[in-house]
Amino acid sequence: MSRGVRGFFGRSVPALRRCCAPAARCAALFLAFVLVAQTSYAMVFPPSKSALVWLPSGLTLALFVIAREVRWVPWLLVIVLAEMAVVTRHGLPLHVAFAWGIANGLLPLSAALIIRRFAAVPFALCRVRDVLLFVGAGAAAAIPGTLVGAASAVAWLSMPSFWDMAISWWSSDVLGIVLVAPLVLACATRHPRPSGSALEALCLLAALLSVGWLVFGGNASDRTRALSYLVIPFTAWAALRFGIRGATLATIVLDFLAVWQTMEGRGPFAGTGGSAAARVLEVQLFIVTVSLFTLLLAVVVAQHLEARAAAERAEDRAEFLSSASAALSASLSRDAILTELARLCVRRIAHLCVIHTVEEGAMPCASVAHADPSQEATLLRMRGRGAPDKCARQPAALVLGTREPLLLTELGCDEHEHDAMLGAFGVQSSIAVPLVVRGRMLGVLTLYATTPGQPYGPPDLALAEDLARRAAVAIDNACLYRDAQEAIRAREEFLAIASHELNTPITSLLLAVQLLKANVDGPLERIERLLDKLPLVERQTKKLARLVDELLSVSRITAGRLELSLSEVDLAAVVRGAAERFSEDLARSGCQVTIRADEDVIGRWDAARLEQVVVNLITNAIKYGDKRPIEIAVGGEAGTASLVVRDHGIGIPADRLPHIFARFERAVSARAYSGLGLGLYIVRTIVEAHGGSVRAESTLGSGSTFTVELPRASPPAVEAAHRG
Ligand code: ADP
Repeated sequence: MSRGVRGFFGRSVPALRRCCAPAARCAALFLAFVLVAQTSYAMVFPPSKSALVWLPSGLTLALFVIAREVRWVPWLLVIVLAEMAVVTRHGLPLHVAFAWGIANGLLPLSAALIIRRFAAVPFALCRVRDVLLFVGAGAAAAIPGTLVGAASAVAWLSMPSFWDMAISWWSSDVLGIVLVAPLVLACATRHPRPSGSALEALCLLAALLSVGWLVFGGNASDRTRALSYLVIPFTAWAALRFGIRGATLATIVLDFLAVWQTMEGRGPFAGTGGSAAARVLEVQLFIVTVSLFTLLLAVVVAQHLEARAAAERAEDRAEFLSSASAALSASLSRDAILTELARLCVRRIAHLCVIHTVEEGAMPCASVAHADPSQEATLLRMRGRGAPDKCARQPAALVLGTREPLLLTELGCDEHEHDAMLGAFGVQSSIAVPLVVRGRMLGVLTLYATTPGQPYGPPDLALAEDLARRAAVAIDNACLYRDAQEAIRAREEFLAIASHELNTPITSLLLAVQLLKANVDGPLERIERLLDKLPLVERQTKKLARLVDELLSVSRITAGRLELSLSEVDLAAVVRGAAERFSEDLARSGCQVTIRADEDVIGRWDAARLEQVVVNLITNAIKYGDKRPIEIAVGGEAGTASLVVRDHGIGIPADRLPHIFARFERAVSARAYSGLGLGLYIVRTIVEAHGGSVRAESTLGSGSTFTVELPRASPPAVEAAHRG
């Protein structure tokens, strides 16, 4: 089939189905109504014009209770028409048929309204309370229809007594409700599987027919009414072993047998004398009592079974979650946890599992698993581990946006066409839950179910959410552990470098001091020669002081004690002063410095800290400047001041550039260049504390440019802290 043709049918078949389904439902209701009404007319005993048991009342009530409200109006119309068709066929005038149609429509409508008011939707006979509500609502809802029906019968059919007619109408409606509605409701709603087997069901049917025949089928004169109680153990058997459906079916079988035999003049109720109607009414009342008893017993059993199943499910769930927690916390590697999580899911709650992680704005697929390991290669090919997901309509992408769990119970052709993976594996429904911990989104866990007719439901969603919570904690722990390990490694590396860096000037100072001490009493020329070493001592002391200053600044920053003391400062003057102080170092390094500064670049800054920024940038330019010229530019616009330090030295590798402003980060080998990896960190922290920014541009081998931008007025919070 070509794509175009498939596309046409793919779209038009559901549309066709959408149009035809309501019409088909109305036609089915019309036929069912006519069929059960005709059956009821078999129980009309003249001179009464109405049936002894009105079975359509049970059918329509059950259908209205189950259906959505939008279907009520067309169905009311169908009921009126069907009733008119049946009644006119029995020779009654059209206006009576119409009035009775209205009466028949009023019953299910009022019953459904009462039940909707007091019970949850969808209504099911699952608790004793539901049965009582349903019978009570049925009995009350039968009243309006009864009044309309009886009034029209008295007015147009010359019925002698309104109340006789009303009572017989109401009782036939209630009998119909109790006999038929529970079966329809039980068939239309989900109930636990019956514990009895097919063979047992056949035995039960045989036993029911035999005992029914024994009780209701014999000669009326031989039968006592006490014999009729023999049916109770068999209906109880149906209730205990075959649930609500079995119980209602058993009582209907018995009812038909009993009514049929009683009408034939057989059984315990046939010998009571009186009219045929009185005898059938008596047997109906007996059956209704047995039906209600059986139904209540079945509901109690179903409630008990449901509670036991729920307890088993909860136990099962708790066991799964506790073993999942143990498995997830067995490793401190994030990747191992993600793999284990996917495995756990396909072992228990999914056929396919895909886990996406959130990383720097992208959402790569971190782990996949399939219940059938031989399919995993195909799944990997389709989802591509590590590749970011492009499909914005995927459950994971939706959850990433909303951070809310998602349950998709029906994935149709549309979704399958959109996402090849869903079609390839025949995915029926899916669940996507966020992996969130401490308010941070770590990723999304998506589960797919492929068994037709068994979509995911709210309990699966709750289980997935619980699992995702535990997994998120395990992943977070692994990440924290990794960060802690990295921090420890960085600290150890820093301690090694710092001790080396501090040791070098100290050794050099110690040597100089020892030399001075050894020669303090020596000849004057030697002392003069020793005095030549003083500049070296000074340099080493300055270096030592700078290192200690860097360490102090960092410890202050880490402890959150970087306080700014603001005043009017001229940035150009600070730069010139620093360059002056470094003239000796600059001369020794062979770097030419050019300063281009605007007049009076004044702002409210911390002078000492600003000097630290300038010094750190100039020191780096000298250190990494490769003896080439250094250009410093100071400028100012209305609200901002800028400082640019450019060198033409070794440059910075592109992959290291984003990291150089972080603590302990270095882009050179410790052997080639001394340093603690703190200078730029201090620069960034001071600049940001003033509300400014710093950035670096660099080309490896061609030099680097550092640009600092500062607001001339410090942010209000800084000013307030300064005044405070
Ligand atoms: P340190 O210079 O003590 O290593 P910094 O924090 O001052 O620490 O600098 C961090 C890293 O950035 C340096 O190790 C170096 O690799 C790189 N870097 C800084 N300034 C320059 C520059 N002007 N040219 C080339 N690389 C630089």
